[in-house]
Amino acid sequence: SIALVWFRRDLRDNDHAALYHALKAHTQVYCSFVFDREILDALPCRQDRRVEFIHASVVELDTALRARGGGLIVLHGSAREALPALALQLGASAVYANHDYEPAALARDDAVRGALGAAGVAFHTFKDQVIFEKSEVLTGAGRPFSVFTPYRNAWRRQLTPFFLQAYPVERYAAKLRAPKDDRRIPSLVELGFEPSNLAQLAMPCGMSGARALWQDFRSRMGDYDRARDFPAVKGVSYLSTHLRFGTISIRELARAAFDTPGKGAETWLNELIWRDFYQQVLWHRPDVVARSFRPEFDAVRWEEGPDAERMFEAWCEARTGYPLVDAAMRQLNQTGWMHNRLRMVVASFLTKDLGIHWLRGERYFAEKLNDYDLAANNGGWQWAASTGCDAQPWFRIFNPVTQSERFDPDGRFIRRYLPELADVPTRWIHAPWLMSPLEQAAHACVIGRDYPPPLVDHAQARERTLQRFKLVKTSE
Ligand code: FAD
Repeated sequence: SIALVWFRRDLRDNDHAALYHALKAHTQVYCSFVFDREILDALPCRQDRRVEFIHASVVELDTALRARGGGLIVLHGSAREALPALALQLGASAVYANHDYEPAALARDDAVRGALGAAGVAFHTFKDQVIFEKSEVLTGAGRPFSVFTPYRNAWRRQLTPFFLQAYPVERYAAKLRAPKDDRRIPSLVELGFEPSNLAQLAMPCGMSGARALWQDFRSRMGDYDRARDFPAVKGVSYLSTHLRFGTISIRELARAAFDTPGKGAETWLNELIWRDFYQQVLWHRPDVVARSFRPEFDAVRWEEGPDAERMFEAWCEARTGYPLVDAAMRQLNQTGWMHNRLRMVVASFLTKDLGIHWLRGERYFAEKLNDYDLAANNGGWQWAASTGCDAQPWFRIFNPVTQSERFDPDGRFIRRYLPELADVPTRWIHAPWLMSPLEQAAHACVIGRDYPPPLVDHAQARERTLQRFKLVKTSE
């Protein structure tokens, strides 16, 4: 019998749940990927690093599958229509895919399941992108966890080698079938996009890119707990975009972290567990997409109007006058990636210093991040805004200057992204407005001319935020 595997956020040919199950159960297996117009046409910018990343990864996956006698049938259209049509054309009795937990993807999959079902074609889906999904890890009372630490403990207790085993796709690779027609993979331009700066970013794509980053990180994993918080240091894995698009298997990474002794590997495994945690939050609480995880915080009155708009723009455009915040926003705007410490700092700054709704920041990140993932991004923003599960308590407010002093002590990261502060001595780099006019002139950084004055006074902003949240508490 014939099966069709539909690749989505799992762009690899190894340790792949859907591909394995299709190969095991059928005699002939075709593979496909759809550049979905419903997603692509809605993207606001025609230079999108993610589309380019996916494109390069799809090309590589096609080559890898061809080397095994298969190949990718790559379509450009609405997946809801194109995929069932392809299954019928191939005479497939079943379509195989991996679970996606985002509400829009679930709606799309329901539509596809309906169309396939009407034609008598089965639609089988599998857990692949996480170790534990949906309701696999629950509290003793059978409810979803809303606090990370007990979730992590339960996750670890439930973990057996079984959950980390790779799916041995190679075993059945002879059943892969090459596409029947000679359709080429559409070019980026044919998809309606132009090249971005991805090629200049030394951001390796596809399975080979993931492998290179992973090999590099493996030797540094032991230092992760000590190095991960310093954006100027190469302390993290940079694998998030690969995990987002599945160019490397989560089981392979979690297995290596689990098998490696020491605090570094343990801390890194915790980050992978955070990833599972937020996916299950989204599964159980899809309403978090637009609302606070803790509904009482929907009563927070965020700043609105022309002043707030002006401040939001300054935040987006790296003009807040707080060097660490601005350097981080430039990193995001220029590269599509931002260090985790900085994501926390800029999210806190937008919500607690500027008093702007976390959803505005969440949407901006969604446009810009190469690794944008609804579950992790929403979770991260609600954490920083104190509206989420296991969030930062609302009265704990990051001081952007102190964060800068602690995590970029010599201003190395700041100077990398803010060349206008290159000559500012380290003692002033975190708060350059404190320099006297003479010092500003001496260090080629006149505040108001070369670099903006601070958008808000942190101490006053902090007071306003405490009031904003206190009002919610008292009206409960
Ligand atoms: P590493 O430190 O090497 O961690 C390894 C992997 O663990 C990451 O690749 C990622 O898949 C996962 N991970 C790490 N931290 C988290 C976390 N807090 N939540 C969920 N998964 C995590 N991560 C995304 O993948 N996509 C997002 O859209 C995203 N938005 C964020 C928004 C905010 C406001 C915050 C505070 C965090 C966000 N994160 C997001 C989490 C984290 O910042 C990134 O995963 C991390 O910086 C990616 O770099 P890395 O691959 O080097 O991570």
